[in-house]
Amino acid sequence: MSSTRVLVLNSGSSSVKYQLLDMRDSSRLAAGLVERIGEETSRLEHTPLHTGGESREWTGTIADHDAALKAVSAELAKDGLGLDSPELAAIGHRVVHGGRRFTEPTVIDDAVLAEIERLIPVAPLHNPANLTGIRTAMALRPDLPQVAVFDTAFHTTMPESAARYAIDVETADAHRIRRYGFHGTSHAYVSRATAKLLGKAPEEVNVIVLHLGNGASASAVRGGRCVDTSMGLTPLEGLVMGTRSGDMDPAVIFHLMRVGGMSADEIDSLLNKKSGLIGLCGDNDMREIRRRVDEGDERAQLAFDIYIHRLKKYIGAYYAVLGKVDAVAFTAGVGENAAPVREAAVAGLEELGLAVDAELNAVRGSEPRLISPEYARVAVAVVPTDEELEIATQTYALVNGSSNLT
Ligand code: ADP
Repeated sequence: MSSTRVLVLNSGSSSVKYQLLDMRDSSRLAAGLVERIGEETSRLEHTPLHTGGESREWTGTIADHDAALKAVSAELAKDGLGLDSPELAAIGHRVVHGGRRFTEPTVIDDAVLAEIERLIPVAPLHNPANLTGIRTAMALRPDLPQVAVFDTAFHTTMPESAARYAIDVETADAHRIRRYGFHGTSHAYVSRATAKLLGKAPEEVNVIVLHLGNGASASAVRGGRCVDTSMGLTPLEGLVMGTRSGDMDPAVIFHLMRVGGMSADEIDSLLNKKSGLIGLCGDNDMREIRRRVDEGDERAQLAFDIYIHRLKKYIGAYYAVLGKVDAVAFTAGVGENAAPVREAAVAGLEELGLAVDAELNAVRGSEPRLISPEYARVAVAVVPTDEELEIATQTYALVNGSSNLT
């Protein structure tokens, strides 16, 4: 029997999200998540997609990642899809930080585990949780290829001029300080899907990808290769996000320490969790912000305006970096759903060849689509991202020794 299924795992410190895909047709067999691992009220939600069955929910104590994966396997087994199935070809793991070394998806062995561990100082929140998920899955199925797909990999093609901060080189290198970028799996998928939408090969087009979710990042992609991205050493740099500030003068931090009497940890929390849209207006959900804007709420309007101003600056910057742009692609929760954000971000950029057609922009859908008028020199597109499919595709291609990227 040929093995065509891939399990995609995204392991956080207290959660595991998963999807099981059949790579013959990229269909989704099951999806779910375990949250609040290690707490009394852990919760598992499982949806058997291949049968169109109802979601099942379970609450109770799931002590650790090992218990979580076993619970997931038991749920999958109820539909004949358990982790012990011979039809499972591989497990693909989302790994946030791959440093400079991991430029491609990689089959995990002891050396790879050690390298992911070595990167913990630059990804203290994410890599330990990713490692726990990988080790647990390897213990459950030691015979199965397990593949790490890195959030940073797509950005490793950035030239030094974009990847380096203008700080003392010895200090930077001693602490591995450089711009790594994140959301790479999404930027890779969306830039390729945008080329496909234009009827071109990825090598033939230059795309600005705007991944606007709760976390948000922009990237400049030349001929399929990333040449700049807005997140840096950590996901804090760049665009205004749901709860993160994005770009600001680094001296704000010294000021908060010296004048505000705040500690490094307090400032870290302020800038990552209490800034961005939520810091500006108390809401981080763009639906709620738009509702308030429509009611004339001034703080929501200011938050929206700051968000759009920053977005527009990045479109302009990446236009200049690329020289010639074929498409601007909006993706993720805000990018795929918030027509007012797309309209405002592109407004006034007609001289750059950018425009949005109001009617096309208002259409909702789950397929990639153009929203620019025919006369526009640069295509503006909405391209839904699919990080799980991308991880499964890369994983399957690697274990099959073939490249079948869509
Ligand atoms: P994450 O970064 O957590 O993966 P998503 O890509 O799912 O986030 O995006 C989540 C965000 O998308 C929400 O916080 C919300 O601001 C926004 N969003 C989702 N649906 C809509 C919608 N219909 N209109 C406007 N914004 C939306």
